[in-house]
Amino acid sequence: MTNQYLQAFMDDIDRITVVCDTPQVDILEISLSCDVMITLVSQTSTSYTYQTNLPLPLDTPIFAIVNGEKIPVLFRYIARLPLFDDYFYYDGILGYTYTPEQTEFKLWAPGATQVYLLLDDVPYEMIKQERGVYTYTFLGNCLHQTYMYGIYRHTDYHEVVDPYTKAVTVNGERGVIVTVPTASKVPLPPVDVPIIYEMHVRDMSSHIDSGIQHKGMFLGLTEHNTHTSHLQKTGIDYMTSLGVTHVQMMPMADYSAQSVDETQPWRSYNWGYDPLHFNVPEGSYSTNPYDPMTRILECQAFIDKCHQEGLRVIMDVVYNHVYHIKEHSFEKIVPFYFFRRDEYGVLTDGTGVGNDFASERKMARKYIVDSVSYWAQTYQIDGFRFDLMGMLDIQTMQDVSRRLKAINPHIIILGEGWDMGTLPTPQKAMQANAHLISDIAFFNDKFRDNVKSFVSGQLGFEGIIFNQILGTAPYTHMNQMVQYVEVHDNYTLWDYLTLHNTSENDTIRLKRHRLATSMVLLTFGIPFLHAGQEFMRTKSGIENSYCSPDIINQMDWDRAFVYQDNIEYVTSLVHFRKEHPFFATTDFDTIKEMVKLIKSDEQIIAYCVKDLFIIHSANFYGKDLYLPHGTYTLLISSESISVKKWIVGSKGITVPPLSTLVLKKER
Ligand code: CA
Repeated sequence: MTNQYLQAFMDDIDRITVVCDTPQVDILEISLSCDVMITLVSQTSTSYTYQTNLPLPLDTPIFAIVNGEKIPVLFRYIARLPLFDDYFYYDGILGYTYTPEQTEFKLWAPGATQVYLLLDDVPYEMIKQERGVYTYTFLGNCLHQTYMYGIYRHTDYHEVVDPYTKAVTVNGERGVIVTVPTASKVPLPPVDVPIIYEMHVRDMSSHIDSGIQHKGMFLGLTEHNTHTSHLQKTGIDYMTSLGVTHVQMMPMADYSAQSVDETQPWRSYNWGYDPLHFNVPEGSYSTNPYDPMTRILECQAFIDKCHQEGLRVIMDVVYNHVYHIKEHSFEKIVPFYFFRRDEYGVLTDGTGVGNDFASERKMARKYIVDSVSYWAQTYQIDGFRFDLMGMLDIQTMQDVSRRLKAINPHIIILGEGWDMGTLPTPQKAMQANAHLISDIAFFNDKFRDNVKSFVSGQLGFEGIIFNQILGTAPYTHMNQMVQYVEVHDNYTLWDYLTLHNTSENDTIRLKRHRLATSMVLLTFGIPFLHAGQEFMRTKSGIENSYCSPDIINQMDWDRAFVYQDNIEYVTSLVHFRKEHPFFATTDFDTIKEMVKLIKSDEQIIAYCVKDLFIIHSANFYGKDLYLPHGTYTLLISSESISVKKWIVGSKGITVPPLSTLVLKKER
């Protein structure tokens, strides 16, 4: 019997709050079903808070008897205390373990009073074990059956999809028992000089003239010899032709049906930063989202194809929040545990999307570590890019790194180390704490911002950029610095230049753009390109195109055809970089010894590395530059300069306006 106006919560091991909904109830008499004494310590118009003389039991349901009525005491803020983790942390396998003979199910659900496995809707009561784990072993073969968990907390009841499920029905509505094959291992040599290319599954093929059959799908990126009617290469052949070493996939794990409805994917577009099921590929990228295995096999086919082509795959993972907290399994399974709340119990919103995943709690951390390990092992993922990594805690990222490197020592981990959210500063996986996670790389937004200012003609950025090229704190070595000027977020560089250099024509803008990309590919650190940057990608001035139509987000292959020269130029820089192993130097001191500054003023940054002279000029006019006397070969020029051999006398050279040159001193 439950009073519909009263609820009782455990907020600490010795604290209970009774909340009175309207109409208010005067509590005249209260006791607990367990053998402890309670004392009223505070009261408001809607709540009574009591202290107990002894610790409350955590493993048996307790009740408050209020004015003679029996009210269940539910876990509330106690779930966020370290003592809760100490008591309930479970280090074993969760989810299901399938064999044709039997399947074992395990769910971590402290606070539940009864849990049912619903296998094709048939209920089986699960058995409570230690540490809040509920388990059930189904005898027989349940392959391809759907499953849900039905969770009671006294009269409170929820049906949820298992967060550990490896497969789901369309739009992720139900979990499914499958056996996921381990993707084939294609041995790729370790990469000394990674070059990352960021792209979105759907964008790469959605263009009407892409020549790709499976538009918007994983399989579209397994098709060879695809091209437009102008014979512009598209799809995987195009990506391979650029020479990049890693493709970074914008989210390809299952995201919400509200973002893209898998039953009619072309009705809307989304980048996919609205996570739903973290261990399942997104259904709208499969040829049949209704069949749970199709998306799994097609995602693996795509990764496999990349590997065969020598491309390593980095996956963008979004563990910092979920799309809809109230509807998400995590909050329904253990309320108040998986998401951060402030001192008043209100959800924090550091991510800007209404909820922050509490990675610092042990079972939340375990979930992230288990999830990336699963992708690395079962899908052969070569790297992970952590969205809003600064929201996560340092220990989680240390554990992630340790586990992933044990699976594959060459795995790349990078993240957005912005300072955000409510964790104490020393715990945040952010740039300023880079020394605590030294095998993880960070998007270097200083490089991005300074180079954008420099190339668009602003003064005074030469010295600061030179420092970024050589490597600088807070990073501890060059492989922590992801050097970029454009990503999926914000304006594309072309749109940025259109906005900032309004009076200029496309010819000038192209020079500025090319200069910026040259600086990315000729720096130390990990260069990062946004797909289409090599052909002046535009999103028609839309700054945040996360749900803009395909026409805005697609790779515009007609534009690629127009800017073929630039694609060739960028490709030549990629090859140049790969041919010069010194770019892989990671130690700051070694780089400082190796690099000599020649000029860093008048909007020119010029330096030499061994016998190579690298010159970037953002000056609108040709400028004289002193170089040591001798004979030089021009290896790279952002201008179409026909002379390849330069004899440099006492006057030095004239650096063309808005250009990049790389010269090799022969003698
Ligand atoms: Ca989905």
